[in-house]
Amino acid sequence: MIQFTVLTLFPEMFAPLQESILKRAQEAGLVKIKFVNFRDYATSKHKNVDDVPYGGGAGMLLKPEPIFAAVRDLPEPGARRRVILLSPQGAVFNQKKAEALSEQEELVFICGHYEGFDERIRELADEELSIGDYVLTGGELAAMVMIDAVARLIPGVLGEDTSAQEDSHSISLLEYPQYTRPADFEGRQVPEVLLSGHHAMIKRWQRKESLRRTFLRRPDLIKAVIFAAEDYLILEELVLEHEEIAAWQALWQHLCPPPKRRRK
Ligand code: SAM
Repeated sequence: MIQFTVLTLFPEMFAPLQESILKRAQEAGLVKIKFVNFRDYATSKHKNVDDVPYGGGAGMLLKPEPIFAAVRDLPEPGARRRVILLSPQGAVFNQKKAEALSEQEELVFICGHYEGFDERIRELADEELSIGDYVLTGGELAAMVMIDAVARLIPGVLGEDTSAQEDSHSISLLEYPQYTRPADFEGRQVPEVLLSGHHAMIKRWQRKESLRRTFLRRPDLIKAVIFAAEDYLILEELVLEHEEIAAWQALWQHLCPPPKRRRK
């Protein structure tokens, strides 16, 4: 079970989390999502949560008082609670971070809005995370992305736990191409090997296609791949098939040394 607590001015924006897999996960008690509207903690007559920046500049900043009061009013944390500030200035969220966060008991997300936060709000957070190098109007979409990516790693949330382990990025490789019926769609055939029923050959084909995709689409990921001895021959084949992969030969030969020959 994991609990997500979201501090936001716009809890209605989180309606997508009430559909499909996450809806079922909440019904099954595997995931709990709680919203705190920090406007409820504003003390001024008009419940203001933002103000103009000192020193001038465009836009309004979220004031510290309501967010500090909302965080201080959260129930006593369990041993494993992390407070995350959503910000385009944070470290970029990725699958490794999702895996690390899925070990927590509770994740608290603080969603900014308008021009951003008063700087002092940063001290409430254990870490600052971004979903990419672009600027959103608020932290709500970023929080939803992270909640979705973390929740699907909680055991039981996906039907089969293995399906999360085989996803792109969970082993630093992109996922191999997948097909479902029909075997022939308007002349486009499913690769023969997948119809063969030969388990070892299918596994080898999937590994080769994962390596091919990663080298061709995301060669920056290769340095994090844990190669197996069997990969050496696959990589030699791929080098003959793609000039781009041949260009990476020095790197992969360093990461994946040739298998030792058995003595006769
Ligand atoms: N002026 C701020 C800056 O340059 O850092 C950007 C403010 S942005 C318009 C409003 C809020 O949206 C941010 O405080 C943050 O909570 C959220 N946000 C925007 N882009 C984000 C991103 N890439 N990842 C996570 N949160 C983001």
